[in-house]
Formats: sequence, structure tokens, C-alpha cells
Amino acid sequence: MPSLDPATVRAFLERRLPATLELLRELVGINSYTGNREGVNHQGRVTARHFESLGFTSAFVAHADPAMGDHLVMTRAGRTPRTLALISHLDTVFPPEEEARNGFRWLPEGDRIYGPGTNDIKGGTAMMHLVLSALREHDPEAFESVTWKLLWNATEETLSRHFAEVCQAHLDPAHTRAALVFEAEGRPRGPSALVVARKGRATFRIQVEGRGSHAGAKHARGANAITQLAQVVERIAQLTDYPRHLTFNVGTIRGGVAVNRVPHEASADLEMRAFTREVYQSGMSAVLALAGHGEVRSPADGHACQIRVDVLSESPPWPRNPRTDALFEVWSATARDLGLPLESEERGGLSDGNWICDQFPTLDGLGPHGDNDHCSERSADGSKLPEYVLISSFVPKALLNTAALSRLIRSSTP
Ligand SMILES: [Zn+2]
Repeated sequence: MPSLDPATVRAFLERRLPATLELLRELVGINSYTGNREGVNHQGRVTARHFESLGFTSAFVAHADPAMGDHLVMTRAGRTPRTLALISHLDTVFPPEEEARNGFRWLPEGDRIYGPGTNDIKGGTAMMHLVLSALREHDPEAFESVTWKLLWNATEETLSRHFAEVCQAHLDPAHTRAALVFEAEGRPRGPSALVVARKGRATFRIQVEGRGSHAGAKHARGANAITQLAQVVERIAQLTDYPRHLTFNVGTIRGGVAVNRVPHEASADLEMRAFTREVYQSGMSAVLALAGHGEVRSPADGHACQIRVDVLSESPPWPRNPRTDALFEVWSATARDLGLPLESEERGGLSDGNWICDQFPTLDGLGPHGDNDHCSERSADGSKLPEYVLISSFVPKALLNTAALSRLIRSSTP
């Protein structure tokens, strides 16, 4: 049973909320676009300072790509090596010029606070601070008993693989009971939902090489690369299989130079997403099988278009699994005790959870609630609104997280 008194913790969280929002305001005020190395490092230093006051020591880990900012790893050794990892990221998707152009900055309006990263994911970082503060105050025995690792990815938004290596280097799988990701809740309506699975994603480039020719004088000599690519694109569209949660999306396409030339080249970029490794692999094989001779040929001599397929990137699927389900059950039982409705969600979007779920029991969506992630525009008619977080979502979610952490720590064997 949780040893926390929910009413007392809730009162603490209410008192603490203004300081949490002040921390969030400070973080949102620093531009930490992934490509803004100095900004990301500044975000890391300010974040470290706030968590050092809770007894954490900080280490900055140089990125594999020297053009990127440092990852941040903070540690608080407990009485046992049993480890809980809390995960967030330092970067956002908004370049400084875009923030300036759209006047996108910290803006409280009713229950909403608009601003870059308010929801994705600086609100999650502020949530981590609030939850750890509450646990330290109201269940110090649990707080002191485990070793805490807090990890911030410098480049989550560009899906770089390096952070997974940082997690592996700093977390011992034998002792790590949970990797808890503080991404925001993604559903605009309905009860709270934690993320228990995420689709994996592969991106591809299809390049077709045809044969150019004069569209007037030597039309039959040409092998039209655009015609060929159009057929390939249609074939890719047919691969989407909703019952298997397998989707393909051709997102960009280009080809040709001028209308009086039979185009000698054309290319398209696409992505594929799937929840399970089997479905993911079958989709991958289907795309790779498109490579080779095309059926579009020169009528004059049969010269065939050539189709080439390159895999540009891969993020592995995070399928439903017993270790995640066991963690979710701790949050779910806690929510029942607290009288808070809680559901689970299998989400199409990616997070750092995709990279670490096969090494550590992983649960995601522990951040606050908001919407319009990755949007900075605001139109006069309100049809476009930028990213925001809901102030009222912090206290209930922090209460749930605090009580669930207490339960998790007290229920697990050393
Ligand atoms: Zn995020």
C-alpha cells in the first residue's frame, strides 16, 4: 500500500506549482533548437542547476556529433544500487528565427501556457522536478533507498541513435527497474493515458534512373523515370495495411528538368511505421523488393528504368511487452487508489523509448497534458494555434507519478 497521504501530497504539489511553472518559464526562455548547440548546452546547464538542489550531481556527455550539444546525465546514489531512470530531452524543433518570426514565446492564457517546448518536453522536465521534490519530502525512505539517474537527450528531435548508447553506458540493466520517459500526454480529450508501445519507423529514398531523350525528336528512345516512379509510388501506397497497423507514406517526390525532355531521373522519400518487429520486417522487405529493373522501358530498344532503394534511417519498434505492462500496472493500481481514471495508449510517434525499451522496462507519457507539439504559428481566426501545456494537468499527474514511484520502490525486491 502506498505510504503517502494523497491529500497531504496534493497540498504540497499545489504550493509548489508556482515554483514549477517558474522553472518551466526559465527553460522555455532559452532557445534549444536541436541545431543550436550553444542553446542546448545552456538549457543543460540551467536544468542541471535546478536538479542539483535536490542532491543530484551532473555530468555532461559530449555528443558523437561535435556540431550538437551535450547530453546531460544526473545521478543521486541511494542506499541500494536499485536504479530508476527518468528520461527527457533538452532540444526542441523551433529555430530561433522561427520563434522570432511567429512571436512564439512564453504566453499564459487561461489554463494554457503557450511557448516552445512547454509540452514537448520542457513541461516534462518541470514535472520530473516537481515529482522528485514531492517524493523526497513525503516518502524520504523510498527516495533515499534507490539510485536515481536522470538523462536528457541533446538531440531527441532528430532521432539520433547516440543517446541510446549514453543510456547503456550509464544504466546497468541488472539494477535498472524502470526507464520512465516524461513525454507529454498526446490525446486531446479523454482520461489520462500513459504510453506503453510506440511504432518503429524506417525512412527510405527511392531513386529511379531512366534514360533522357528529346521529347519531340526522339520520344521513343526515352525511358521515363517519372512514369516509372509513379508506378512504384502506387505500389507503395498499396502496402499500407491498417489491420496490421502498418503504414507507408510517400512524403516528397521530385523528378525531371523540363517538359521537352523525357526525364532521366526521379526520386521520392517515404517512411514506414509498425508496432511489432515482425510486421516492421515484412514492410521493410516489401520496400526493398521494389529495387531492380522497372517495367517502364524505352519503346525503341527496351532500355529499362532502374529502381534503387536506400534505407535512410531506422528507429526500432517498441511493441507491447510484459515488462512495460508490469510498470503500467503499478501506475494503474495507484490511479485506482487515487480515484483518477487512467488508460494506456499505443502511439504512432517515436520517442527515446523506442531505443531503450528492449534493454530496460520502459513506460512513457509521464509528462503533463497539452497539445499542438511542433507548431509555432497562430492565425487570427484561431484555426492555427501553437504548442501549449495545460496548467491544471500538473498537480494530478504529479500526484499520480509520485504515488506510483513510491509504490514501485516499496514493492520491488532489492
Ligand atoms: Zn519530445
